[in-house]
Amino acid sequence: MLITAELLLQYQRCHRRAFLDLYGNKQELDPPNDFQLKLQQDRLAHQKIVLSEQTYHKPEYPHKDWQAGAQATLTLMRQGVERIYKGVLITEVNENYFPNYQSPVPITILSFPDLLVKQPGNSIFGNWCYIPVQIELGKRPKQEYKISAAFHAQVLTVTQGVKPPAAWLILRERKPYFVSLENWLPQMQTIFQECSQTLQQSETPEVFISRQKCNLCHWYSSCYGIAKSQEHLSLLPGVTPSRYSYLQQVNINTVASLANANFADLEPVFGKEITEQLLRQSQANLNNQIIFNSNLAINLPTSDIELYFDIESQPEIDFAYLLGVLLVDKKAQTEKFYPLLAEDFSEEAATWQQFLNLVWDYPQAPIFHFCDYEVSMVKELAKRYQTPTHLWKPLLNRLVDVHEKVTQAVTLPTESYSLKAIARWLGFNWRNPSATGSQAICWYDEWLKTGDRTFLEKIVTYNEDDCLATHIVKNWLSKTLEKSPL
Ligand code: SF4
Repeated sequence: MLITAELLLQYQRCHRRAFLDLYGNKQELDPPNDFQLKLQQDRLAHQKIVLSEQTYHKPEYPHKDWQAGAQATLTLMRQGVERIYKGVLITEVNENYFPNYQSPVPITILSFPDLLVKQPGNSIFGNWCYIPVQIELGKRPKQEYKISAAFHAQVLTVTQGVKPPAAWLILRERKPYFVSLENWLPQMQTIFQECSQTLQQSETPEVFISRQKCNLCHWYSSCYGIAKSQEHLSLLPGVTPSRYSYLQQVNINTVASLANANFADLEPVFGKEITEQLLRQSQANLNNQIIFNSNLAINLPTSDIELYFDIESQPEIDFAYLLGVLLVDKKAQTEKFYPLLAEDFSEEAATWQQFLNLVWDYPQAPIFHFCDYEVSMVKELAKRYQTPTHLWKPLLNRLVDVHEKVTQAVTLPTESYSLKAIARWLGFNWRNPSATGSQAICWYDEWLKTGDRTFLEKIVTYNEDDCLATHIVKNWLSKTLEKSPL
């Protein structure tokens, strides 16, 4: 069996993912989407910038001939070159380096550290050794990066006969981050051991759909189909992996069994609020009905003019390139969409000013949005452009989060409380069904690269649809609250 840092990384995100990557039917893979490709390209571009400041050697070997790659890397290490980019290290797992580890099948570890950097020290090569340096796109030193760095350090230990004195990460801001191998090698070994045992099982690990980890996974369609056919509990909002594992222990495996569970059996573990929420959610989904939540004191402001607001941004740099506002005049029965678009970063200040002018043309109008990103960006833009307090602070009282109001007021028979899930359940369709926020980020990137305005048009259409969807959800909620029995 062959284990790479990439496989170990995927295992940490999802055990099933690592298993499928090794044994899954490749025909069931989703085609790579633009956002995944963009992340790969961004990582390579980041590596290029970091490497442009250094000189390095790269081992040469026939495509995918890892043994030849390892030999070429070893030759460079013996020569004592300063830096090696994309070296290849291979070793067999043995108990000297993986204490207490036993496996019925031989395991080979293959590692491709981004950089091997020469340091003083005593190794099999002479009075020098190498340390691994990983170049990562993230801003923060995530655990998975440190585990990968420790993985490379482990293989390097075998290759050079001495443990590297350290491992380093170079993150997006390009400040080096020290990874303590004393702390991270033991953790990596534990995860490695669990991973290799999982990969030796005959059963594929169970599916568990979680939006955060599954959204970017190339097995999503296949896993979602399985979860759907099994009516898997992970499709129920509020069922997290830890809650799921307890529900399994008490033999609650279906939406129906959860809907009929005893409050008193679950409350000691989950607490009152979560238990009520889980029971309500399962009952709503089982009976395909809306349930009014009991803590109902929901106020939705109303006015002849209403504004619906949605932002598209490049999240890595918090660049808000589109501030979309849908103006609904209820008296005149008209709707007008204002796409306040920055064609590059230098125009952001101007679009922010246009936004302020527009919302202050209607000082009484509530500004509806979905989730809290718009609030944080209003604060961020005000700070960035030193906006006088009287122009932005009162907006915070006018901003109304429709998502928060929905979740406070009702439990819906949906798989999530995202704008897409709720608006689609109400019958709304986006003109481009595959458009997403991540896709919009890619489109904006394409616009910057090519100057092709059709990318901007796609973003504007998507943003307008988000505003329209927010309008529909808010109107539905207003009407529903009027009918509330509470
Ligand atoms: S879609 Fe989700 S459950 Fe399936 S392999 Fe990917 S991350 Fe795991």
